Amino acid sequence: MSTPTSSPLREKLPLHVYLERMTLEEKIAQLIQLAVPFFEGATDAGQITGPMASLGITEETVRNAGSVLGMAGAQETIRVQRTHLERNRLGIPLLMMADIVHGFKTIFPVPLAIGCSWNPELAERSAQIAAKEASVSGVHVTFAPMVDLVRDPRWGRVMESTGEDPYLNSEFARAFVRGFQGTDLSGDPDRVAACVKHFAAYGAAEAGRDYNTVDMSPRQLREFYLPAYKAALDEGCEMVMTSFNTVDGIPATGNAPLMRQLLREEWGFGGVLISDWGAVKELIAHGIAADESEAALKAIRAGVDIEMMTACYAHHLAELIGSGEVDEALVDEAVMRILQLKEKLGLFDNPYRAADPEREKEIVFCDEHRAAAREIARKSGVLLKNDGVLPLKPTQRIAVVGPFARSGDLLGPWSWTGSQDAVVRLADAIGGKLSAPAGLTVAEGCGIETWAEEQWTEAAAAARDADVIVLALGEHSDMSGEAGCRADIRLPGAQLELVRRVHALGKPVVAVLFNGRPLDLHGVFDEANAVLEAWFPGSEGGLAVADLLFGDANPSGRLTMSFPFSVGQVPVYYNAFNTGRPQGAPDAQVRYVSQYLDIPNEPLLPFGFGLSYATFEYADAKLSAETMTPEQPISVSVRVTNTGAVAGIETVQLYVRDVSGEVVRPVKELKAFRQIELQPGESQVVVFELREEQLRYYHSDLSHSSDAGAFVAFVGANSRDNVSLPFRLVK
Ligand code: BGC
Repeated sequence: MSTPTSSPLREKLPLHVYLERMTLEEKIAQLIQLAVPFFEGATDAGQITGPMASLGITEETVRNAGSVLGMAGAQETIRVQRTHLERNRLGIPLLMMADIVHGFKTIFPVPLAIGCSWNPELAERSAQIAAKEASVSGVHVTFAPMVDLVRDPRWGRVMESTGEDPYLNSEFARAFVRGFQGTDLSGDPDRVAACVKHFAAYGAAEAGRDYNTVDMSPRQLREFYLPAYKAALDEGCEMVMTSFNTVDGIPATGNAPLMRQLLREEWGFGGVLISDWGAVKELIAHGIAADESEAALKAIRAGVDIEMMTACYAHHLAELIGSGEVDEALVDEAVMRILQLKEKLGLFDNPYRAADPEREKEIVFCDEHRAAAREIARKSGVLLKNDGVLPLKPTQRIAVVGPFARSGDLLGPWSWTGSQDAVVRLADAIGGKLSAPAGLTVAEGCGIETWAEEQWTEAAAAARDADVIVLALGEHSDMSGEAGCRADIRLPGAQLELVRRVHALGKPVVAVLFNGRPLDLHGVFDEANAVLEAWFPGSEGGLAVADLLFGDANPSGRLTMSFPFSVGQVPVYYNAFNTGRPQGAPDAQVRYVSQYLDIPNEPLLPFGFGLSYATFEYADAKLSAETMTPEQPISVSVRVTNTGAVAGIETVQLYVRDVSGEVVRPVKELKAFRQIELQPGESQVVVFELREEQLRYYHSDLSHSSDAGAFVAFVGANSRDNVSLPFRLVK
């Protein structure tokens, strides 16, 4: 262990004593978060460099600051903490925070991909490993999970969410929090505190443009957007981050009804609330604050404890308290919450916590973690189409063509802490599966967005003697993630041209997609014989994708976000409302139906969809009774048989529709799912219990209850292919 033994740690005091002894300046400094450059320039931890310097923060504020955003490894973190404690009058340790979104050094598939596993245990495992690696490197808090419900694939950050369903998102939110935090944050230094984000409804940005306005009814907010944040908090999530967007006209970061009334009073959240990056100062650009002072006033009144990356609190809180506009009690409460989190993390007893350069070397990116990343990536890929060309055979001659053939850009956004160099390239992983190395040919064919005739010549040569062409296509990781929005969500034109030319060769084509959002698959889906959505699959993604292509793992992912037929349908999601008109087809006889004249209403691929190398047959779907009461649940059962030749995992899904609600209910809502593994020929009867609580929803007066009356249950393989079973709720 190389954790320093001679620590400048002072005797720990009861938290209220710190508060009593702190000057107002010291208290306000606890609400300030310093940036990464603090690490970089800080041979003497008082030195201020980079963006923080331009904020005009005083050396005294730095000396007393409460937290730091950024990652510098165990050794540097220990040095900074030690220097800080030597200089800090009361010996209050710094909190170290960072964005550990889908892995630290070992990068897992992006959260949207993990969602497609429909297996929250895998999410928990990935978060647990990420926490362990981050913690040993000195991180105390991760800005994750992001649980924003998403419906618009133009928005770049859909890759950080688990999708379009509030129930599934809630299950994953809980799992991520459990994985990061464990059950005993103080007693288990291999865990970190989680910060659920972005509160609230950041995923509903208008037109899929990042940071844009969000406006929706309070019912819609509660019904679809809030459940996953609430689930994270019910699981004990320690922190919440505000969102950049407006919620009902007020930017979230200055939104007292949202933060004070809903989050704090109604939900009873007592943890730390942090603004998103610069969001306090952004209240000025939004137009609800004339200057930094007013921005500080609105944010502290709304309940923001820590201001990230701007200095409105540092510059103005003292004078606002002096003039009586802000009650010092608000600052005291915020400081207390921050001190409580530090105490919970055990920082007053050991300010270095798990940071340990020696152990760091052993733990980060170790074989065990990489194996977990491979396993999770195998479970996250979604097979979208297969005419029988897959699985590939080791004896085949295979050409791997496309900008992702040799690309290491498989980690996706939010992965700069990851081990970039160790990523196994898809072509190498495929080569490793072949019986004869000469059976592999590789060519880029084109760039992600660029086309060059020589590249095509090379690709055509590579494809000439191949039995099968694997087209490795996708988006650069900068094309999704924060501020990575796209109005046209097809593959870039150069790649579509590559697909067109490869298709014209007349050989079997398997398209493998590496990307961070549901794409408009025009120009690929019909042209390819098989399509595997690999997402950004992480450190071991190349190997995992090869496992899936060759049938060493059987694809079991199911979409958690609909793939639109074309971008013109967006937002298109399964849990939508019906209109009063027939949902038309383009060839409908009647003109005044709810339809597009040029495209279908239905997405290309629905929520819950995904193929396997096995085939599953559903039969004997039935209810235990046609009437449910609050005291008497009913059960829904269905027999699932693997009619294929290989073992496979099927995700059996249960949906419900309320057809006589007080307000219109979605055409389908996911209520439960079960994953089963079946050997060839094996059958299993899956039984779901359905209870009255699962039929509750937000009424026009925002009460949460169920309506007696008619319902329909749907059981099947996805949100489109299922059997309907009517029942009644009697109260
Ligand atoms: C993002 C957050 C992130 C923060 C800190 C912001 O720009 O919206 O999700 O946690 O930066 O890096």
